[in-house]
Amino acid sequence: MNAGRAIQAIHIVGGGLAGSEAAWQIGSRGLPVVVHEMRPTRSTAAHKTAALAELVCSNSFRSDDHEHNAVGLLHEEMRRLGSLVMRAADANQVPAGGALAVDRDGFAAAVAGAIEAHSLIEVRREEIAGLPPPEWNSVIVATGPLTSPALAEAISSHTGEDALAFFDAIAPIIYRDTIDMSVAWMQSRYDKAGPAGSGLDYINCPLTREQYGAFVDALLAGDKVAFHKWEATTPYFDGCLPIEIMAERGRETLRHGPMKPFGLTNPHPGTAKPYAVVQLRQDNRLGTLFNIVGFQTKLKHGEQVRIFRAIPGLERAEFARLGGLHRNTFINSPRLLDATLRLKTQPRLRFAGQITGCEGYVESAAIGLLAGRYAAAEMRGEALPAPPPTTAIGALLNHITGGHIGSIDAGPRSYQPMNINFGLFPPLASAPKNDSGRRLRGVEKALAKKRALACRALEDLGNWIGDGDQAAAAE
Ligand SMILES: Cc1cc2nc3c(=O)[nH]c(=O)nc-3n(C[C@H](O)[C@H](O)[C@H](O)COP(=O)(O)OP(=O)(O)OC[C@H]3O[C@@H](n4cnc5c(N)ncnc54)[C@H](O)[C@@H]3O)c2cc1C
Repeated sequence: MNAGRAIQAIHIVGGGLAGSEAAWQIGSRGLPVVVHEMRPTRSTAAHKTAALAELVCSNSFRSDDHEHNAVGLLHEEMRRLGSLVMRAADANQVPAGGALAVDRDGFAAAVAGAIEAHSLIEVRREEIAGLPPPEWNSVIVATGPLTSPALAEAISSHTGEDALAFFDAIAPIIYRDTIDMSVAWMQSRYDKAGPAGSGLDYINCPLTREQYGAFVDALLAGDKVAFHKWEATTPYFDGCLPIEIMAERGRETLRHGPMKPFGLTNPHPGTAKPYAVVQLRQDNRLGTLFNIVGFQTKLKHGEQVRIFRAIPGLERAEFARLGGLHRNTFINSPRLLDATLRLKTQPRLRFAGQITGCEGYVESAAIGLLAGRYAAAEMRGEALPAPPPTTAIGALLNHITGGHIGSIDAGPRSYQPMNINFGLFPPLASAPKNDSGRRLRGVEKALAKKRALACRALEDLGNWIGDGDQAAAAE
């Protein structure tokens, strides 16, 4: 630590997934932190509460399979790095097949409880409505996809880069006791039990070929929310396309996406094999609410009720929440940030979370974790080596700070938000082989490759983790 110099607090703007994780990492390293969170004084279009780390939409952290899935691997790496977000998620799981889903209120309470009880972390409920004051010499901006307009404007006029916007859409939530279980049935795809499930975790609603055709027609004809002028020219994020846009891309697109019938068997006697299936996933610990998987939409509310009630089993469905549309703000990180997430033109400002152009709860928290560690190391006058690019967290950081390569239409929009995926990892030195040394093919090869990438990642992460991290993880 720098001798003879008083340690100043590190300031974090935004107490969401990234800001909360960053605060925890800094506090765990014995440094004072102030988190500035604008809710409840001012809210966003998607947040409903004043809670830190509120999950604004789905309650899923996606797959928890750390051997074959990149986000599952990121979960595991974060656990090993002492992540508060993962600790709170693990402690508040609800059944969801192979996915890690959480009770959203229990999760947020666990994060907030740990932050608010930490003696080195102070939470101030206030909006930072412009660039942070110059006397704050270490700041993490973690204000997320719904950064308040005043701050977004200040960032944009300082960087000279236009903030980008695209659509994230919210999927509807239904009261479970209004679903007709004489038509629907409980089953996880391929009966996968996952970390908190039983293999019977999803509600499945079957459609015949005719019903599927009528559903696609209804989606195409349904009344949609009109675009704002500024929205009309922004591209969709392919991982989060509204269902009606998927339907526009081809009549069979949904049947090969969220409505795929594979790995599911209708147990009701006398029923034919479904042509398509709508799945609903548990949304709260009590099991009273279920969300329609992958049904983010910009259909008008009345249309959603009419069209979704035409799905067999949902004829009398009551909706706890209907789908919606939201803005997403993110900066052109590969151009603006250095390798430790600092703004090149003003290195006292670091960025973290979805505003850097990662996508998703887990990814946002992971970048918060790194930003917190970098800020703490810098304040203590210590060097923190970059996480190996072969790890999920290192691959994600690399994508944000430089891994992205401008495409032929390079420009501000060529950098798009990204979920963690194995495509961001450096390739293996050699292709995996079977026990007798023969090269693998097809699915076997793909699975072996993922296992080898995951195994390499965890081994390299282990080498990167120092004694300090072990202590934080044990806390
Ligand atoms: C509508 C919507 C739905 C989404 N659905 C999902 C989903 O289902 N699954 C998924 O994995 N990801 C989803 N995301 C994407 C994203 O992962 C989450 O938004 C995630 O919460 C991002 O984490 P974050 O910490 O970067 O931002 P947030 O969690 O949004 O935290 C940012 C915080 O900063 C505060 N803030 C903003 N401006 C200021 C200011 N000027 N001063 C002080 N405080 C400020 C906000 O109130 C907020 O608490 C969704 C995003 C949106 C917008």
